[in-house]
Parts: sequence; structure tokens; C-alpha cells
Amino acid sequence: MIHPSNAELRALDLAHVWHPCTQMKDHEATMPLVPLRRGHGVWLEDYDGRRYLDAISSWWVNLWGHANPQINAAVSQQLERLPHAMFAGFTHEPAAQLAAELTTLAPPGLNRCFFADSGSASIEVAVKMSFHFWQNTGRPGKTRFVTLSNSYHGETLGALAVGSVELYKAIYRPLLMDVITVPSPDAFLAEPGESPSDVARRRAAELERVLATQADDIAAVILEPLVQCAGNMRMHDPIYLKLVRDACTRYGVHLIADEIAVGFGRTGTLFACEQADVTPDFLCLSKGLTAGYLPMSVVLTRESIYEAFYDEYVKLNAFLHSHSYSGNPLACAAALASLRLFRERDALKANRVLADHLGTATRRSFDGHPNVAEIRQRGLIVAVEFVSDRKTRRTFDWRERRHLHIYRHALSRGVLLRPLGNVIYFMPPYVISYDEIDLMVDVAREGLDLAVREGAAA
Ligand SMILES: *Cc1c(COP(=O)(O)O)cnc(C)c1O
Repeated sequence: MIHPSNAELRALDLAHVWHPCTQMKDHEATMPLVPLRRGHGVWLEDYDGRRYLDAISSWWVNLWGHANPQINAAVSQQLERLPHAMFAGFTHEPAAQLAAELTTLAPPGLNRCFFADSGSASIEVAVKMSFHFWQNTGRPGKTRFVTLSNSYHGETLGALAVGSVELYKAIYRPLLMDVITVPSPDAFLAEPGESPSDVARRRAAELERVLATQADDIAAVILEPLVQCAGNMRMHDPIYLKLVRDACTRYGVHLIADEIAVGFGRTGTLFACEQADVTPDFLCLSKGLTAGYLPMSVVLTRESIYEAFYDEYVKLNAFLHSHSYSGNPLACAAALASLRLFRERDALKANRVLADHLGTATRRSFDGHPNVAEIRQRGLIVAVEFVSDRKTRRTFDWRERRHLHIYRHALSRGVLLRPLGNVIYFMPPYVISYDEIDLMVDVAREGLDLAVREGAAA
């Protein structure tokens, strides 16, 4: 194909590819596949020349726009030197430098970096490390994990087991380890008269009671600090993190913070844990780590955990986990370039200004809408929960798939929105302009009106 069209690429793809998180039959008519030729800044462009504003940072990974010149240059330079080499027995400057920088930026006490190749893989690493730590330190009974309702930690079997989004998990249950699930501190589910911090305190007390009776069996609590992104962008008060951290310390249980989606400035601070001033025992990072360029993840942990694995080889207590692409130099180079952009642009400060504009624009468009139950925001994540009845908060029947009206309308207006069930959300790259924010919010509002008016979408 010399100058392929959308139609030609669609046909080639649909003949051979199986896409992620997709009922492939939907690509017949409900959601035509969109072939992308290139990206620039917040814009993606298809083969027929149509442009789409990437309002969700391509599944929450992109930070500085597509084809960012500085990151492109850093990756190209590394490409000339060393695209990849094995990371057991060998090292290279990008990985060593990145580990050093991450340990400086992360909450105090996280001194060690273990590299993996996807968010899910980093969850597997943290879960295995926590379990293995207790084996190595004479507490072999500590084998269970506590997870929150509505949480998401990825799709590999261990990560799926410690998450609880039923849509992704239910069918695989016979394959999954058993976990202890406690209710999420989700502020949307507050009782009448309860503030977000009240719910957070009530839920933390419930979690603490589980630890009080079962800590001897529990290796770790795993949670997504501040925002359960895949769980429809539900948010909670930072006090929850503080109380859970204290309870974990008191009962000798690890805390695993999954900041795969919220890390790297999404919530207003570089890491969400900072807003509660807590250091987890394991911090999982991916998505924004490479600014949306290359697949990589990292688990940061404490020196004291590292030391429990440090011994003579014949003791056989080392962490013998690996991935072929561990510490990939191209990914590390992209990550280092991204951290440089944070410094050069004072991005956290700039993001606060953008977040103000985004929040204001969203409230202007959606406040008082008869089908909007809540508008919530944490930094550059803004979500609009829509319902069929604002008073009772009754939702539309999921079979009607009303969000597809919004998805299709937005694409027709040149915006990539991808509502999660009954939640429209914005999570744009950090280089979006005010005008682009206004466009994305306006288009979302039109989409919601259409979804309410038109009925079932598929
Ligand atoms: C995306 C995500 C994961 C999984 O990461 P993958 O790279 O898709 O495997 C895990 N946890 C959270 C919070 C995520 O948002």
C-alpha cells in the first residue's frame, strides 16, 4: 500500500488482528476502527486526514503530546547507541540514571527500583516480592492480599486477582488466588450527610478491623491512591491513605500503592501518595513513566525489603523474577527525557493552572444538567457521572450502551473521548491549550445530550 486509506487499513487489520479490550464484532458497524497515521501534540490524525484531539492521553499514558521533539531526540540518540541489551549481569547509563532519579523523586524511603515491562507486570512483581519477603523473614503464614472493591490492577492473573472490576474478572475466577476485599472509600458512595473525609475514615476503620483480626495471614494491602481510574474514575479523600498507612504499619502489613495511572503529575502532585504524605512499601509505576512512548514499568521499594533478599546464593532466597525487556534502554531514555521536561517546564505548577481551567469549563457545561449526578476532579482528571435520573441516581441500563453515542459523536467532531460506562472523563496530555480544553468539554456536553435523547446506542 503506497498511500493507504482508512478503509484499506481497516480491512487489512480486521483480517488479522485481535484488539485489546474489544468485542471485535463491534468493529463491523457499532465502533468502526480508526487507523492512525500520525500524532502531533494533543492531536492524532487518520489516513483520510481527519484529526482527533486525544482527550484521554491514549489510555492515560501520554504526558507531553504525541511525537514530542525532546523525547523523540532522546529516544533517537539512544537508538543509535544501544536499543536493547539483557539486564541481568549487565547495565547501562539510562537505567542506572533513571533509577537514581526516581528514588530521589519518590516518597522518602523508596531506594530500590526493579524494572518490568507493563503495569500488570509491576503488580505481579510487587505481589511476589511482598509474599516472598515474609517467606524470607520467617513469617510464612502471611500469604493473603487485601484489595478494595472497584479496584483495577491489570489483566495478568495475579494482577486480575488483586483487582475487583467484575467485568474483567468474573469469568476467570477459577484461575485466581483468593483475596480479601474491603469496601472502597469512594466519595460518590457517601451516606447522606457524610463528607468525603467521613467516608474515608469509616472505610479505613473497616480495613483496620480486618488487619486487627487477620494480620498474621496478610502480606499486603494494595490500592490505587486517590483515584480508581478503570473503576469509573471514582475518587477518595487523601485521609484514607494516611489512615491505611498507619494501620499497615501498626499491624505489620505491607502497603502496595498502584500509581500506574495516577503517577507523574496526573493528580496535581508528582505522585498521589504525596497528598497524604505517606510512603508505601511498594510503589508501582508505568503508563506516564515513559510519557506514553514505550512499554515499561518499575516497582520502587525500601532498602529494608531489598535486604531480606540479599544473601549468599546458596540460601536460594533471591528474587529470581525477570522479563526479557527488563530495563529497556529506549524506554529508560524516554523516561529520563520526560523527567527533564517536568523540571524544565515546572510542569506541576503549569498543570494546576490547566486543571483550574478544565474544572471550570466542565462545571460550566455540566453543572445542573438533569442527567449529571456528580462532577469530580483530582488534578488533571475530571469525571462526569451521568444517570437517567439525577434524584434517585438511577443509571441507564448498561445494555443500552449509551456511552457509544458520546464516543461516536466526539469522533465525528474531532475529539477522542472514551467514556467508561456512565462516566465521561477528561485526562488530557499536559500540553493541551485552553481552546482545546473548551472544545473537548463542549463536544462531551453535546454527546451527553445525544446519549440522553437517542436511547440505546447499539
Ligand atoms: C493500566 C493500569 C494497570 C495495568 O497496566 P498495563 O500496562 O495495562 O498492564 C494497572 N493498574 C492501574 C491502576 C492501571 O490504570
